[in-house]
Parts: sequence; structure tokens; C-alpha cells
Amino acid sequence: MISPSLEHALSSARHCAVLTGAGVSAESGVPTFRSAGGLWKNHNPQELATPEAFDADPALVWSWYSWRRRTVRDVNPNPGHYALAEAAALFPRLTLITQNVDDLHQRAGSSGVIELHGSIERCRCSVCDAPYHGDNAPPTDDVQYCRCGGAIRPGVVWFGESLPMAALDAAQQAAGECDLFLSVGTSAIVYPAAMLPMIARQAGAYTVEINTAPSALAHEMDECITGPSGVVLPVLLETLRRLRGSA
Ligand SMILES: [Zn+2]
Repeated sequence: MISPSLEHALSSARHCAVLTGAGVSAESGVPTFRSAGGLWKNHNPQELATPEAFDADPALVWSWYSWRRRTVRDVNPNPGHYALAEAAALFPRLTLITQNVDDLHQRAGSSGVIELHGSIERCRCSVCDAPYHGDNAPPTDDVQYCRCGGAIRPGVVWFGESLPMAALDAAQQAAGECDLFLSVGTSAIVYPAAMLPMIARQAGAYTVEINTAPSALAHEMDECITGPSGVVLPVLLETLRRLRGSA
């Protein structure tokens, strides 16, 4: 599974950047927007995850996110999440960038995760941006309100909203500075997932896609490994340990 070129990259990389997408969470049982399990009360997720939907019916959108929060809290990180958390100790530097809004990387032990699409576990006021104090409490079905009177909204990026600038900047910087870039479990269609591996490759990094099926970007990568990340990433971790000594 590990080519000589990848083995060389694993043994010599000073900075490994990893981008993860929905496939990594799906292996833990988190339903994706497109899967049957992603449906809720027959609503189309793409019509609920918008600022317009929240303005029109905050209670509806809030209770959908409470349902999603319960779903995410009921599942556990998988071996892929744990392998990435452990790999951080084996590279001089590892930057983990995710498109996922669950906390599964953090729960597996990763720190400093760049969340391109925010997190459903960190809500904020839709008016004054103040953080929500009930993030750690059991999800409520009633919409919550800030002291300023504004409705509390999920801290995720909705369709039609821009990505958080600081996260996007940090991700682009890591892609431009790394010497090994892994794109894991992402279809690489949605911006900026399609752009980050290109930045890395142009800067001279070795780029690897790990996915259950080749993505639209597969032909642009130096190497593609077809398989579930929960299987492939632990194999990479084993190789890393052999090459760099056990941590
Ligand atoms: Zn407020």
C-alpha cells in the first residue's frame, strides 16, 4: 500500500498538512448531507443550512442542529481520527485542516485543528457574535437567545456564507509550507478542498489522496490510495513509527 515515494515523504517530511472531509466522519457513522441518514423530518439539509432558513424559522433550524449534535455525540472517533492524532507526535510539524463540523478530531486527541466550516459544538449569537454559554449542555429543542436578544445560531458555515478568514488563511499557509499533503475522505469538489492540494503541489509538496473512490482531483495528485481512511491511516501511522521511531 505504501509506495517507495510515499515512504520517502513520510520519512523526510518536516511539515505534514492533512485535509479531512466528510468521508472520515462517515466512517464513524456521522450521516452526510447526501446520505439517507442525513435526512431529518423530510427536510432537505441544503435548504435548512442557510442564513435565510434561520431568519425565516430559527426554531426549525435550531432543532435540526440539536438533532445533528445528538447524532454526533452518540458516535466515536474511528481509527483514522486516532491515527492522525498520534501522527502529530511523529512529524516535526503536522497541521490538521478539516471540513467537518463535528468534534471527532479533537475527541481523538488532535489539537490546533483548523475548522474550515466551523463547528456544531460552538454556537454564537447571530447578532453580536457573543459565544453561547450552553455549548456543553445537552442540546435543547428550543431556540436559545443571547442577552442582546439575538437568536443563538450554530457556529458553522452555511451555504452562501464565506469561510472564516483566519481558518482559510491558516489552511492556505500550511498548504504552501508543507512538504507532504494528505487529502483524506473528501470529494475535493467544494472550494477550498480543491485548491489546497494544488497550492501544496505547486510549492513542491508530495500530494496524496486517500479516499474510498478516486475524487475529481485524483489525477492532479502525486499518488492516490483507494480505501477507507480508518484502514489506510493506521497503516501510514505504522510506517511512520517504523521510519521515525516509536513515540
Ligand atoms: Zn448577542
